[in-house]
Amino acid sequence: MFQGEVQAVGKAGRRGDYHAVSLSGGKDSTAMLLMMIERGMPVDGVFWADTGMEFPEMYRHIEKVDAYLFRERGLHVRTLRHPQGFEWLMFEEPKQKRSAVERRIRDGVPLCGNGWPGIRVRWCTGQLKTHLITKEVNRLKGEYNAVSYIGIAYDEMGRCKGERYPLVEWRVTEEEALRYCYGKGFDWGGLYEIYHRCSCWCCPFQRIDELRKLRKHHPELWGRMLEMDARALAQFGETPLGMFRKGWTVGLLDERFEAEEQGRKFCRRRKKEAGAGGPAPLVCAKTGVPDADAAD
Ligand code: SF4
Repeated sequence: MFQGEVQAVGKAGRRGDYHAVSLSGGKDSTAMLLMMIERGMPVDGVFWADTGMEFPEMYRHIEKVDAYLFRERGLHVRTLRHPQGFEWLMFEEPKQKRSAVERRIRDGVPLCGNGWPGIRVRWCTGQLKTHLITKEVNRLKGEYNAVSYIGIAYDEMGRCKGERYPLVEWRVTEEEALRYCYGKGFDWGGLYEIYHRCSCWCCPFQRIDELRKLRKHHPELWGRMLEMDARALAQFGETPLGMFRKGWTVGLLDERFEAEEQGRKFCRRRKKEAGAGGPAPLVCAKTGVPDADAAD
């Protein structure tokens, strides 16, 4: 399926070719863009969806990529944003669909806000990232022979779905992508030396250990998570919308990490109480660490 260099697939009757690069800001999409530039491939637009909850280092990284792109190709990164943003969606978006309103009234859940993103209702990725990029790319496809380039590494090729994936075509792995970026002077201010992933700092799907590191290395962001946690609990209570993740509030995680730092045992009974009303979380019998999903 993937054969060497990327080539635009033309459709007759459109205005011209358009090469659209989706930039997540992470190592893979950054490496893809830098390699496309280095190989002299056409790049007409670079699109980045800002969730508003990116690490400060990520904003600086995007500025750096933008400066490089402008120097090399005379283009700027085009930033796409939801008009209201993450916290508005989490706490304030009014529910309008009749079935959703009826369900919330029945369950005694407030009619505004989506609460913490959950496995079943992962509202954030769609509203803050994929819909924005897809809408823009589809608009371009309507006007041009547009080709969309996505930065998925060779070792993640199972995630490919119908667009163009240069890193897969070039067999560039995640590790090679990161090394390549470092070699070009893009180091995210050391984010990848701390974290396994560098998307939203408030993501409930990240591993427990990433959260532990967030508390240690970005205490100001951890403080914001505690504020969001208090607001979610006040608004939604200990329901799936109000709980950061099954069986855990951010406050409880904070207590647990504090206890770990002081060499004290964390009282697990409190966690069970906080999770009352739902099934017990999947917990590793050896480490006591809840099962965690890697986020996008
Ligand atoms: S990183 Fe997490 S919080 Fe951010 S959009 Fe993706 S799933 Fe949602």
